[in-house]
Amino acid sequence: MDAEAKRIDLYVDGAYTGAASGERIEDVNPATGDVIGHIARGSAVDVAAAVEAASRARASDWGATSPADRAHILDVAASLIEANLDELAQLESQDTGKPVSLARTIDIPRAVANFRFFASAIRQESLAAHPMPVALNYTQRRPLGVVALITPWNLPLYLLSWKTAPALAMGNTIVAKPSELTPQTATRLAGLLTEAGLPPGVFNLLHGYGPEVGAPLTEHPQVAGISFTGGTATGALVAAAAAPRFKKLSLELGGKNATIVFGDADLEAAVDGAVRAGFANQGEICLCGSRVLVQREIFDDFVDRYVAKVKTLVVGPPDDESTVIGALVSAAHRDKVESYVRLAREEGGTVLHGGGRPELPARWARGAFLEPAVVVGLDPSCRAASEEIFGPVVTIHPFDSDDQAIAIANGVQYGLSASVWTQNLRRAHRVSEALDVGMVWVNTWLLRDLRVPFGGVKDSGVGREGGRYSMEFFSESKNICVHLGEPI
Ligand code: NDP
Repeated sequence: MDAEAKRIDLYVDGAYTGAASGERIEDVNPATGDVIGHIARGSAVDVAAAVEAASRARASDWGATSPADRAHILDVAASLIEANLDELAQLESQDTGKPVSLARTIDIPRAVANFRFFASAIRQESLAAHPMPVALNYTQRRPLGVVALITPWNLPLYLLSWKTAPALAMGNTIVAKPSELTPQTATRLAGLLTEAGLPPGVFNLLHGYGPEVGAPLTEHPQVAGISFTGGTATGALVAAAAAPRFKKLSLELGGKNATIVFGDADLEAAVDGAVRAGFANQGEICLCGSRVLVQREIFDDFVDRYVAKVKTLVVGPPDDESTVIGALVSAAHRDKVESYVRLAREEGGTVLHGGGRPELPARWARGAFLEPAVVVGLDPSCRAASEEIFGPVVTIHPFDSDDQAIAIANGVQYGLSASVWTQNLRRAHRVSEALDVGMVWVNTWLLRDLRVPFGGVKDSGVGREGGRYSMEFFSESKNICVHLGEPI
């Protein structure tokens, strides 16, 4: 397929363009190993041009457009994404290795929903007023100005649109930097936003490596806010770059989330939920439940059912409708995930299923596929059970009491999410309260309402996005107090 490889350009000031360096990075389809594109390799020079364009667009009125006009553009953008859903799903699958069916039913529809949601939200936004006997306070929400949106490779358009829609709704201009592993849908989005009516310079897109593009972008003095989703180590670099200029910062980072199954749970529902939480999107979701804690009285039964269910997950070509688990995002990432399976064995674990490379037809022989792995017998504090693997590897651990389950769940550096499986309402509340995480699901997983706060504690991040939390992040409050009596 190398002959068909396409140019994947930056998007600056309303036009596609190569990078100042003239250099390119290969975009590889991880399911086939084919080079499918040549990505413009941005640098600090391109960062400067994109931030300049975004600053000009801000000065020339975007921030002063009416909420109704901004909402209209977001709605049109949603419809354009929807009209191009099949193409976008193909592009997402080519870049990530995920099943096309998953991209078609989850990733791209969610991008549509993100734009529609924030179009509706900005239409209904109202501002606070605080009357005094002699004065009226009213509180405005002003755009931050130029914001940097930095996103990872696992849910490329889904996460970029989750930041882009509220940033635009609140009147900001944007310089976005997706992962260089997954540039295609972001590149397509840039053109669709212009088609939707966005003026030049309001949405700019840079490609390239993190240290060469992400770092100068976060350091740029004209960038007023940074919304970052990615790994915890990178998040620390971003926070350090933002600190000297007091930039507004939102960090959505890694997780090592617990799925806690009590003896009184609906066992079949818990097994189904725990398998989905463990292996959705190849286990490459920050919210994945990669540690399953099971009450000892049902441990053996649960593990038998769990492994039986995992064996039914079809690993295969992304364009095959029956595929549940596609390729991992890159060969390098598969190497990393495999190294954790080896580590789990070295740490005394038993791999009950998976962890090897599947036999697939020649077309897919170079693909980064991995059989979903289920590991038991590990101490919950060992590395394989406490570090984020971000792939299809789940460890299962027994516990005896509620307090022990809580202690194991809280005993990692991360605090993103958890799911609790029980039919006892009092236990559901008590355990949920005690977990040091930003989000808990009870008897379900990844059931999302776009209004609710999304984010983590500890090493999983700082701040919340979603609904009004995103709108607050992408704006500054400004209070105006008008004295109504005689001048004082
Ligand atoms: P990374 O942290 O490696 O990269 C995230 C983004 O940051 C990429 O665009 C990357 O560019 C860029 N970047 C890298 N270095 C810098 C830098 N010095 N300054 C600014 N930007 C930089 O994460 P991955 O892409 O590997 O994604 C996986 C991680 O994302 C996992 O840890 C996962 O848990 C987390 N994640 C968190 C979510 C959440 O909401 N909490 C949701 C989804 C994922 P490049 O790719 O070019 O290096």
